[in-house]
Formats: sequence, structure tokens, C-alpha cells
Amino acid sequence: MVGRGWNLIWKLLVPPRVKIFVWKLAHGKLPTGNYLYNINIGPDTSCTLCGLFPETADHLLWHCRWAISCWDTIFTWLGLDHSFHILLCNGSWLTCNFLCAFSCDFARALIALVAWHIWTVRCHKIFRHSLPNFSQIPSKAWASAHDYFSVHGFLCRNLTRGLIPFHPALWVFSDAAWDPLTGKAGFGFIITTNRNIILLAGAAGDTCASSIDAELHAIHLALTHCCSNNWSPSKLYSDCRCALDLIDNFNNVTAWRSADIIHSIKRFTYQWPDLTWEHVPRDFNCVADSLAHFGSLNPQISLFAQGRDRPRWLDDLCSSSNFSF
Ligand SMILES: [Zn+2]
Repeated sequence: MVGRGWNLIWKLLVPPRVKIFVWKLAHGKLPTGNYLYNINIGPDTSCTLCGLFPETADHLLWHCRWAISCWDTIFTWLGLDHSFHILLCNGSWLTCNFLCAFSCDFARALIALVAWHIWTVRCHKIFRHSLPNFSQIPSKAWASAHDYFSVHGFLCRNLTRGLIPFHPALWVFSDAAWDPLTGKAGFGFIITTNRNIILLAGAAGDTCASSIDAELHAIHLALTHCCSNNWSPSKLYSDCRCALDLIDNFNNVTAWRSADIIHSIKRFTYQWPDLTWEHVPRDFNCVADSLAHFGSLNPQISLFAQGRDRPRWLDDLCSSSNFSF
């Protein structure tokens, strides 16, 4: 890893401070307790996180039990075998091909970010006396990687490997609002990972013949955006049981008004054989519900993602509902 030096690290799709961190790591210059002791400017301290072993970079980032808890989660999310751990320790993660559901660039960026977050937690424990929270590291790193890819325009072509199914799974929540007096409808959706990270949220409006018609349009809008981003959703959640029943048991005689939209939804479902739909209580669908109301007032399509401007109410609602961008 050291041989190919800075070029290899420079290509990582992560912020500059993380590149510098990886460079120090690759060149054995991370100022761990053991490093400082070896250059005679510190005492021989044990691992800041577990206190059981000398604090080398190898131990701290790859072998400490706290670090391993993060790597286990990341491997599961990336769909990587746990034997991949050895490629972390010897630095091959910077050069190897990842046999996972995500692009190599994304997997590499994620690994660099997790290592950097572990290092940050360690430093905060020493210098700010803050309590380490390891359970948040994988989702924070994931959000930073997603953020960086999104802001720099790598998201669509570089996040996933196209046809390989998404690991972790992708979920779609959709909802509609409909005013029986005017026929005006709003559609809202969020597309999330199963770790509650929102990849895309959207809202739009139109006129619809009924509330079920509006719900079907909301589902269709969400699936259209999965398709255009080359994402394969595995779950579709709606709080409208009637709309889901209609997709399941379409009858041309009773539901002729909705025939076009149902056929269009079904065409999406054929390309994602793993996609199933489920009814959720309204409480679990509050973000899509609010987006639907937003859509009825702002009928032009609005899309919200990491790195783009988002209304404050949406961020507040997401964090109170346990989602994040
Ligand atoms: Zn340790």
C-alpha cells in the first residue's frame, strides 16, 4: 500500500482530512500511544478504547474489540464476507476489487471513513473526555460517504454496481393527500436504506379521481425515481391498504379508472422480483405523509437528498422519526 503512495490515497472519494488520515496510517505515522512512545515523546500507554493492548494503529483500528464491532456491521451492510477483515489489516482494501453490492469506490470510501471515525472517537475520548459511542460509527460513516458521493455527483453511477442487488436493502415509503372537494392531490415518498438513511425524498401534486388513485400515483412516483437511479427496492410501504390490495388483485371491471397507473406500477414490479409491499400504520409513514401535503401545495416535483437544500421542517421531522439524510 505504501509503494503506490499518495496517488492511491488521493483517489479515495473522501474529504481531504480523511485522505491525510489514511496517508498517515499507511505510512505508520498515526500518532497513537505506541507511536509517540517509540519516538520518545510519550509514555507507553495502552489502547484508549479497551485498555488491554498497546495502542498501535493496527490494534486500535482493526483489532480492538470496539473497532471490530464497527467492521462487523460494515461488512454486513456491504455484503462482504468476514474474512475480508484480513484485507483491512494488511492495507489491501486500498487496491483490491470488492465483491460486494456497491462500487469499489464507495466501499473504499466507507472503510476509510469508518477508520477515521474510530480514530476521531479515540481522540475525543482523550482530549474532550467524551464517552465513545461505537454504535453510531457505521451509520455516521455511511451518511458521510453518501453525502460526499452525492455532493460530488458520483451518486447514481458510482454508489452501486448496477444490477447487483442492493445490500443493505432499499425501502420505499409513499403516501398521498387528497381533497375530495377540489380533486387536488399531493404525493410524497422517501427511499431509504434499511438503516433509515434517506437516499431521496420527493413530493409532487396533480388532480386525481379518488384518494386511492392518489395513493397509486404516489407509489408510481416513488418507483419511477427508484428506476431512474438504478435502485432496486425490496420493500414498498404504504398506509393505504386499498391501494396495495388493488395492485395485488387488479380487476379491470371494478378498477378500470386506475388501470393505466396500476399497469405502470406492475411493469416496475416485474423488473424487481424481490419487491414486496406491506401496509404500515400511518404513524410509521409520517415523513411521506408530510411530503404528500407539501406536494399538494407545491405541485411541481420537489426532490430532497443529501447535499441539496432541504426545508428545515423536513430535517426536523426526519430526525424525530429516526431517519436521516
Ligand atoms: Zn483496544
